[in-house]
Amino acid sequence: MSSLQLQAINGKSQLLVRTPFPNKKCVRKPFILRPQAVSSKTQRIMESVSVSGEVGGAGGAYSYQALKRLDQLWSNICSPQQVVQEPQQVVSTIPSLFTSSDLADKAEGSYDVIVCGGTLGIFIATALCARGLRVAIVERNVLKGREQEWNISRKELLELVEVGVLEEDDIERVTSAKFNPNRCGFERKGEIWVNNILNLGVSPARLIEIVKKRFISLGGVVFEGLSVSSISVYDDAAILKLSGDKILSSRLIIDAMGNFSPIVKQIRRGRKPDGVCLVVGTCARGFENNSLSDVIFSSSTVKKVGDSKAQYFWEAFPAGSGPLDRTTYMFTYVEPQPGSPKLEELLEEYWDLMPEYQLCCFLLDGVHLQFLYDRVFHLTI
Ligand SMILES: Cc1cc2nc3c(=O)[nH]c(=O)nc-3n(C[C@H](O)[C@H](O)[C@H](O)COP(=O)(O)OP(=O)(O)OC[C@H]3O[C@@H](n4cnc5c(N)ncnc54)[C@H](O)[C@@H]3O)c2cc1C
Repeated sequence: MSSLQLQAINGKSQLLVRTPFPNKKCVRKPFILRPQAVSSKTQRIMESVSVSGEVGGAGGAYSYQALKRLDQLWSNICSPQQVVQEPQQVVSTIPSLFTSSDLADKAEGSYDVIVCGGTLGIFIATALCARGLRVAIVERNVLKGREQEWNISRKELLELVEVGVLEEDDIERVTSAKFNPNRCGFERKGEIWVNNILNLGVSPARLIEIVKKRFISLGGVVFEGLSVSSISVYDDAAILKLSGDKILSSRLIIDAMGNFSPIVKQIRRGRKPDGVCLVVGTCARGFENNSLSDVIFSSSTVKKVGDSKAQYFWEAFPAGSGPLDRTTYMFTYVEPQPGSPKLEELLEEYWDLMPEYQLCCFLLDGVHLQFLYDRVFHLTI
């Protein structure tokens, strides 16, 4: 059994997971039936976590409202599509010269490259700036990384040093957790332990702050709080219209707007994605054995969820916010179709499965614990 509580970590409220069996005498209470509005466990937990500073980008929002918004969007994608709706035309071609058009005087800036979308976009924008190009970046939110860490390998960070995005000293500054070795495993197929693969927890907030400063110091220009409305490709320039009718001109535009890029939507002509990876998870406190990580681990066969079936995979690693803090993700691959599980349904599964996964799969340095039955462990070395 596990109990869930909330506790402030570094000024933010995060989820605390405790796993002891409470040593209490069982006192029978009179059973009284009261009519109640039924809220899911997910709603109760998420509404008790204080939310501050949500950011754009994948994994940047974590309120219950954000979950409902995402589930609504996901339901729309899953709904049966009788007629494929043509998406809004964001990019269009105008076979003439921009410099001789009526709009020519209205462009507020002219760049070699404009990068749309700031989360990973800031890295390519800075690398291009370091090569002497005039670069701007457009981000519809504030250009800021989320609090929860990204996992990465040192080798990958060194590649950012090589292209002038980071200094080598920055690697230590942005690293909040290090762990080795790391497990990959599938039910009854054995385990493979690897070293130095995705074994650093890097703070996106600190990393993006450092890179943003570097980008600006190299002459890069940041447009925040403005979203891409349209792109007109002329013979001599690509013209970007932003919300608020701002107009920028560029030789090249790079789309780094992630999964919900309006340009990708246009290219797919309204067709839904072929497959989707749904991810749910938490950062929770109370893990005594917290020095190893799972890169990918599957401890069960396909399960029924909602009206469809899913194979769950786990990813878990120490979090930088404290020695007992651990991030755990449960993810699955599905086709977007009616009956595919909603994220809230997956979270309901997560609350049930996560304590068992973390308890039975996580090892006391070489000691394996396994659930044989509810409350019966098998212990082996
Ligand atoms: C829970 C979770 C955990 C993850 N953990 C890891 C990890 O540990 N390591 C890892 O490598 N990856 C991880 N990922 C994958 C993650 O998707 C990427 O690391 C990264 O966030 C992708 O960045 P992106 O810039 O491509 O897209 P996004 O993060 O989606 O960013 C797109 C950006 O474009 C902006 N944008 C969108 N539309 C517009 C518009 N019209 N105009 C202007 N701006 C716009 C958005 O505001 C956003 O800032 C994780 C993902 C999730 C969901």
